[in-house]
Amino acid sequence: MLTNSQTVLLSGPDVGDLEQDYVLAALRSGWIAPVGPDLDAFEREIADRVGVPHAVGLNSGTAALHLALLGVGAGPGDLVVVPTLTFVATANAVVYTGATPVFADCDPATGNLDPDLLASLLAELHAAGTPARAVLTVDLYGSCADYERIRPLCDGYGIPLVEDAAEALGATHRGRAAGSFGRAAAFSFNGNKLLTTSGGGMLLTDDAELAGRARHLAGQARLPAEHYEHAELGYNYRLSNLLAALGRAQLCRLDEMVERRRAVHDAYAKIFAHVDGVRLLADADPAANRWLTAVVVDPDRAGWAAGELAAHLAARNVETRPIFKPMHLQPLYADARASLSGAAERLFRDGLVLPGGSALTGEQVRRVLDEIAEFLDGRR
Ligand SMILES: *Cc1c(COP(=O)(O)O)cnc(C)c1O
Repeated sequence: MLTNSQTVLLSGPDVGDLEQDYVLAALRSGWIAPVGPDLDAFEREIADRVGVPHAVGLNSGTAALHLALLGVGAGPGDLVVVPTLTFVATANAVVYTGATPVFADCDPATGNLDPDLLASLLAELHAAGTPARAVLTVDLYGSCADYERIRPLCDGYGIPLVEDAAEALGATHRGRAAGSFGRAAAFSFNGNKLLTTSGGGMLLTDDAELAGRARHLAGQARLPAEHYEHAELGYNYRLSNLLAALGRAQLCRLDEMVERRRAVHDAYAKIFAHVDGVRLLADADPAANRWLTAVVVDPDRAGWAAGELAAHLAARNVETRPIFKPMHLQPLYADARASLSGAAERLFRDGLVLPGGSALTGEQVRRVLDEIAEFLDGRR
């Protein structure tokens, strides 16, 4: 698909006057160099919003995952359970620590880690004398994993939980905010995420020591000495003060942006409500932030496949994307161990992610809905 100004993007950034004001003010304040008061304030504001005491601003969600995993002790020789249905950064962060990911399949209704499979996998690893070092959950497309079941399972073995909440800022689960469920959690503020700093991320934790260590490692593990003293391997992972200012402006608008995404999701739910063989992923979760909406098409019942709708929309300059290709199907992870039910492969084959950005105009949303209606009419 060629993109141009007419193209409806999957999830474009939603920035305006408020963001300009905040970034300009930060620029004029002179706090250009890495850290500064906007970074401190952004960390405080995100921590308060999520209800977790410590937050460390970082230059990507991937960096946040890496430091979170280091924080729970993941390293060479360790196994970390990771959902196979996710973006590659989740699994890569495990490999950065020297640990090895073990993939587990998903609940077909939500695309999130299947608690039954997790239970048998943890038991199996425990019995084999190679217990998991950590369980890394993903809140896929902004719908929280099933923490009612997953947390007691992890606690039962004393295995720390790390939450990849990269896609889930603004979502809740039984009244608790995404980003508050693990020993540590990671948010992403990448350009396509619900809240963007153009690039950035944050680690959240209620463990003061883990937070302090993450902060230390993120600054090249520099010890307090004039001459640049280093006792261990660090990283250049801190979020810049200027980008934190952008994040603060976005955070003021978080509720409004979530509301807008939910309205777009609801419009999709309505148009597909009476279409046989079509459902929305995680449709039963009203507390999802609806970062993106994915339809799942059973071609035998619907009489058409997800790819046909994708082609129809692409020809009309509407961007869509398949649901993530599972990690166990990626050449990078072809040799990894995986506990599978087939659910993730089916979602990859039958799913389609539709445009969901809060920057979509009412006109663009109507256009997408009209194109979908035209497609559905043609298949009746
Ligand atoms: C975006 C994303 C990440 C990585 O975040 P970056 O900020 O791009 O490094 C990790 N996990 C998931 C599930 C994501 O969607």
